[in-house]
Amino acid sequence: MLNVPSQSFPVPSSQQRAASGGRSKVPLKQGRSLMDWIRLTKSGKDLTGLKGRLIEVTEEELKRHNTKDDCWICIRGFVYNVSPYMEYHPGGEDELMRAAGSDGTDLFDQVHRWVNYESMLKECLVGRMAIKPTIPKDYHEEKKVLNGMLPKTQVTDTLTKEGPGSPSYDWFQTDSLVTLVIYTKQKDINLDSVIVDHQDDSFRAETIIKDYSYIIHIGLSHEIQEDFSVRVIENVGKIEIVLKKKENTSWKRLGHPLENHNSLIPKKDTGLNYRKCQLISKECVTHDTKLFCLMLPPSTHLQVPIGQHVYLKLTITGTEIVKPYTPVSDFLLSELKEPVLNNKYIYFLIKIYAAGLFTPELDHLQIGDFVSVSNPEGNFKISQFQELEDLFLLAAGTGFTPMVKILNYALTNIPSLRKVKLMFFNKTEDDIIWRSQLEKLAFKDKRFQVEFVLSAPTSEWNGKQGHISPGLLSEFLKRSLDRSKVLICICGPTPFTEQGIRLLQDLNFSKDEIHSFTA
Ligand code: FAD
Ligand code: NAP
Repeated sequence: MLNVPSQSFPVPSSQQRAASGGRSKVPLKQGRSLMDWIRLTKSGKDLTGLKGRLIEVTEEELKRHNTKDDCWICIRGFVYNVSPYMEYHPGGEDELMRAAGSDGTDLFDQVHRWVNYESMLKECLVGRMAIKPTIPKDYHEEKKVLNGMLPKTQVTDTLTKEGPGSPSYDWFQTDSLVTLVIYTKQKDINLDSVIVDHQDDSFRAETIIKDYSYIIHIGLSHEIQEDFSVRVIENVGKIEIVLKKKENTSWKRLGHPLENHNSLIPKKDTGLNYRKCQLISKECVTHDTKLFCLMLPPSTHLQVPIGQHVYLKLTITGTEIVKPYTPVSDFLLSELKEPVLNNKYIYFLIKIYAAGLFTPELDHLQIGDFVSVSNPEGNFKISQFQELEDLFLLAAGTGFTPMVKILNYALTNIPSLRKVKLMFFNKTEDDIIWRSQLEKLAFKDKRFQVEFVLSAPTSEWNGKQGHISPGLLSEFLKRSLDRSKVLICICGPTPFTEQGIRLLQDLNFSKDEIHSFTA
C-alpha cells in the first residue's frame, strides 16, 4: 500500500532498501521518486479526472473503479484516485491493486499507518464515502459530567475478552490546581506509558495499556498554565496529572469531550499525534552522521521507551513528509559533558544522505527551527530483559541507534546480566558512530565488549572484515553458561537484518531469543 519511498531507486541489494518491515520493494522507473511525485502534484494537473470537484462516493461506485488505469481506494472514509500514483508507489502497483475499488484502510494500517497519505494524496482526493444512516452515539451523560467510568458503549466485546479491564478517570481541584487522576488498574504502568499534550484549550492524555490506548481528550473549561506535572503510582497503576490554573477560580466542570474522549481503543487504531519540537543543537558525529537535539514543548509530557522510534515530520515543497527515527540517550557522552537529566530533550543520531529526500532538509534546519515529533511506536518489550544473562547486539550503520538505550538500560538495570557484546558493522573506520565512547565503555565495564566489522576497510585495518556471516556469528555468539538466558537484538539495512535472522535461526537460536528492529 501507499508508502513513502524512503528508499526509492536503491540498487536491488542496497542498504537503502531498509525501513519497511521486511516487505519487498519494487524498483521504480527513473523519474518516479517521491520528489518527482511531489512535483507532479504541484503541477496543477487534474489527477482525479474530476476537475477539482469533490463527490460523494457510494460503495457501488467505488467498486467500479478497480483497474490500474481507473483505481479508486477508500482510506478512513475518504476516496482517492490512485491511478496517477501507481508508478510512484515503492511497494509496487500490485500491492496498491490489492485495495482497488474497496476500503483499503485495514491493509494500509497493517503496512504503514504512519504514512501521511492525506498530504501525499491530497490532489488525488475524489471525495467522501456516502454515509449510511447509523444510530448516533449518546454522549449526553458524558457531556454533563465529564468524569467517571468508561461508558459501556465504548468497550467492545474484544476488549473485554482480550484487553485490559476498563480504565477510568476522575478530577479534583484546589484553589490553584486541577488534578486529573487516571486509574489504569494495571501494574506495569510508568512515566513512559502516558503522553500528555496541552494546546490552547485542548488537553489530551493517552495512556498505553498493553496494546491499547486509553484517551482523555477534553476542551478545558478554563485556562491553565503551560507546564504541568505527571506522577505515576506504579504499584496501583494510578496516574496523576497536575494542572496549574491560570486564575484561582473554582471550576464547575472540567470541560467538554473531544474526539475519542474517555475511550479505550487498540493502539493500532489511534492516529499518530504530533507536536512541534525545537532544534536545540546539531553536532557532527561522523563525516555524514549528526547528533540532533530536539526540545519538547513545555506543554507536552512524552518519553520514548527503550527500543521504540518516533516519526519526524517536515513539510517539503508543500507536502508533509514523515520518516521514522530512533532516539538515543546521551549516556555514552557523559564523560564529555554533563549528562542532561531533563527529559524534555530528545536526541537523534541521523545519517544525512546527500541524495535523500528528508535528511538534507533536516540538515538544513537552523537552531531554533521546529520539527514535528510523533508519539512513540515499536514492539520492543522491556520484559525481554527479565533474568537476562547474555545480551548480543548486532548493528549495521545507523542500525546502532536502538542499541544505545538498550545498552544503557541493560548495564544499569539488569542484575542477572553477565555479558553484553556489540558487533558493529560499517563500511569504513570513518563510518563508525561513537567508536571511542564504545571503547571507553568496554574498558570501564568488563561485562561489555565491542567488535567492529568493516565491509570496505583500508589496508591499515587489522580488525574483522566482511559482512554478517555464519563464521562471524558462531564465534561471536558464545553463551556465558551452557543454558544462559540470551537475547539477540539486530538492526540495520533490511537485507542485513533479514539475513541475520536466517543465520541466527540456523544457529538454533529461538524466536524468543531474537529481537529484530524493522519499521
Ligand atoms: P531517501 O530519500 O529515502 O533516500 C535514501 C537513499 O536512497 C539515499 O542514499 C539516496 O541517495 C538514495 N536515493 C533516493 N532517491 C534516489 C534516486 N532517485 N536515485 C538514486 N538513489 C536515490 N536513520 C537514521 O539515520 N537514524 C535513525 O535513528 C533511524 N531510525 C530509524 C528507525 C526505523 C524504525 C526505521 C525504519 C528507519 C530508521 N532510519 C534511521 C532511517 C530513516 O527513516 C530514513 O530512511 C533515512 O533517514 C533516509 O531518509 P531520506 O529521506 O533522507 O533518504
Ligand atoms: P551502511 O553504512 O550503508 O551499511 C552498514 C553496513 O551494513 C555496511 O558494512 C554494509 O556493507 C552492510 N550491509 C549493507 N547491506 C547489507 C546486506 N544486504 N547484507 C549484509 N551487510 C549489509 O548503512 P546505513 O546507511 O547507516 O543504513 C542503516 C540502515 O538501518 C538504514 O537503512 C535504516 O533505515 C536502518 N535503521 C533501521 C532502524 C529500525 O529500527 N528499524 C533504526 C535505525 C536504522 P556494504 O559496504 O556492502 O554496503
